[in-house]
This record gives sequence, structure tokens and C-alpha cells, in this order.
Amino acid sequence: MLIPILDSSRNKIKRHASNQKRIRYNPKAKWYGKTIVKISRWYPSSQICSECGHQDGKKSLEIRDWTCPICDKHHDRDINASQNILAEGLRTFHTA
Ligand SMILES: [Zn+2]
Repeated sequence: MLIPILDSSRNKIKRHASNQKRIRYNPKAKWYGKTIVKISRWYPSSQICSECGHQDGKKSLEIRDWTCPICDKHHDRDINASQNILAEGLRTFHTA
């Protein structure tokens, strides 16, 4: 199983993986039979509609939910971002 990590020093999500943290996560991932995949810190996980892939642009942190203008899917910002991070982690893993 994959554990996608968003590598961003300014992201508030605690899944941030600096090199030091990655060193700490690797033994735990191995222990649980998981694989850690690092994705770009610039990946716009909260800007992309996880349903249709439309990139809607930057949103201020106060915007916690939004509706995609293309497919009309309503998103919780964090859940949508986590779905995009997982998809990007899988894509990165399979193309590496
Ligand atoms: Zn959409």
C-alpha cells in the first residue's frame, strides 16, 4: 500500500515529510508493509477537482469547500486534496 507524502514546508498537514521525517517514516512504513512516495511540494492538490481533473486555481485558506464549475461536484477542501495526493502518489509510483 502507498502512503503519498506531500513535501511542503508551508503546508499545515502533518504529513509533511522533510528528509529527516522521511527517514523516521521509512522504518514504520516497512514495518506495516507500506511504501512512501514523495510528491512535489508544488503539486496543487487543493486546486484540482478530484472528480474531473479541472484545475480551478488558487483558493485562500478560508475557503473550506467549493463546487467545480465544470462537473458541479461539491468538494470538502481537505478531502478533495487528500484524494488528489493519493492519485498523484499512485501516478508517481507507477511511472517511476
Ligand atoms: Zn470537476
